[in-house]
Amino acid sequence: MNYKKLHESAFVLDSHCDSPLKLYDGIDMSKKNEQGHFDFIRMKEGGVDASFFAIYTSNKIEPDAATRKALQLIARTYDAVEQNEDKVGVALSVEDALELKEKGLGAIFLGMENGLPIQKDLSLLRLFYDMGIRYMTLTHAGNNEICDSCATKEKKWNGLSPFGKKVVKEMNRLGMIIDVSHISDDSFYDVLKYSKKPVVATHSCCRAIADLPRNMTDQMIKDLAAKGGVISVTRDLAGLMSPYGICVNSISPGGFDKGELPQSFVEDYAAETPLGRMGRIGEDIKGPALLLASSAGDYITGHNLVVDGGFSIWK
Ligand SMILES: [Zn+2]
Repeated sequence: MNYKKLHESAFVLDSHCDSPLKLYDGIDMSKKNEQGHFDFIRMKEGGVDASFFAIYTSNKIEPDAATRKALQLIARTYDAVEQNEDKVGVALSVEDALELKEKGLGAIFLGMENGLPIQKDLSLLRLFYDMGIRYMTLTHAGNNEICDSCATKEKKWNGLSPFGKKVVKEMNRLGMIIDVSHISDDSFYDVLKYSKKPVVATHSCCRAIADLPRNMTDQMIKDLAAKGGVISVTRDLAGLMSPYGICVNSISPGGFDKGELPQSFVEDYAAETPLGRMGRIGEDIKGPALLLASSAGDYITGHNLVVDGGFSIWK
């Protein structure tokens, strides 16, 4: 198969890009940067049509701090897009993304990674939707008020909490996609049970290949698909699907080196995936997703590639 051709002809969506964390450090996305995997130049050169910027917060911080951090990351994403109107635009719908592509512009979507910033308050969920958040990963590497995480030994709810069930219902109503990456198996099956809409795993891999709770079993992937959902396998986190169980040294936030990562992120990541098992993209880790990504030079941003069909979940 000619992966480059396939890549170029497809609508390529990076379903989880951690680069907003770099915006926090003041990175300039209008330039081709030395560090990191992502900027608006390489997005274009790599043939990535749309990217979901992850508005990430750790469960280790207080809810007020998480809300504040999420708001700041959203604002910085809008700032970066507005400063680069000749390259990208914010997309709030499939139609927006397709329209931007027509104009030769990249589409920047917003996804919130961890429901902590909504603080057990559905009205905040609604506000985040109004600010442009189009998916929410229910939790990260810790149990929260919505559900349990895959990373914790002791579960709090054994699935969705009573509040979490309301969150699922409200997300369905608003049209915000539920992201099941990072959540526990019981939480995953509760989401499938209670969600009336298809859900996605925006950055997950296969447990059959790398036996980690952060990954999904074949049965989970089949059950996800049976409800109309999709899994987007990771590139940067390719270790999660690697036969060697290794993880890349630049983890996911736009290709940070380990030392550059926020400590909370390293800790969260370590809770799920032993950091001692790191390898390097392209050297230790190979697979179709990586080949697809690498075929575009090394410019591709995405550790997550959903090609064409993934978009239909929104309809
Ligand atoms: Zn993640």
